[in-house]
Amino acid sequence: MSGTTEPDDEAGKLPVPQDVADAIRTLIRWAGDDPAREGLLDTPKRVARAWAEYCQGYRDDPAHHLTRTFEEVGGYDEIVLLKDIPFQSHCEHHMAPIVGKAAIAYLPYQRVVGISKLARVLHGFAQRLQVQERLTAEVADCIWNHLHPQGVAVVIEAQHGCMTGRGVRVHGVGMTTSRMMGVFREDERSRREVLSLMGY
Ligand SMILES: [Zn+2]
Repeated sequence: MSGTTEPDDEAGKLPVPQDVADAIRTLIRWAGDDPAREGLLDTPKRVARAWAEYCQGYRDDPAHHLTRTFEEVGGYDEIVLLKDIPFQSHCEHHMAPIVGKAAIAYLPYQRVVGISKLARVLHGFAQRLQVQERLTAEVADCIWNHLHPQGVAVVIEAQHGCMTGRGVRVHGVGMTTSRMMGVFREDERSRREVLSLMGY
């Protein structure tokens, strides 16, 4: 019996502790199949490694991606927007997939970050067990607290596997959440501008 194994950065190479594999075997049996069936023999290891990857955000500090900033922005003082950023997360109630896209914008105050860092912040929080509302708030708060911009706007649209694949089984229904901070919260005109850039 193995207890804990130190997480490795490369989820694909993670050794899978016996108790984790056993838990997945139990789940297969509970679902109605035979974990000893040939096609399922390696499934517990694969599932464990897949989950280590789905949840690698627990080993990431998203704020870390915002530590390197640039002050030379040529006097640019308008909105910076990254939109249609695809992401996948898992809901904390069913561990079912949440698949969606995000638009993240900020109005810089003297400093900007490399644009890809906004996506990294999103993924750092998405790769955990989540609810969409908290994911939206965490991304916005992280940028607000660490980049200190004049405003942050985050809009997330997603479909929830726990709605489409079980329960009420509604397909094609998307959920939209948003969080506005600073000027985007306080100033109606700025908020309209950022939402229109995002395509809303
Ligand atoms: Zn759910």
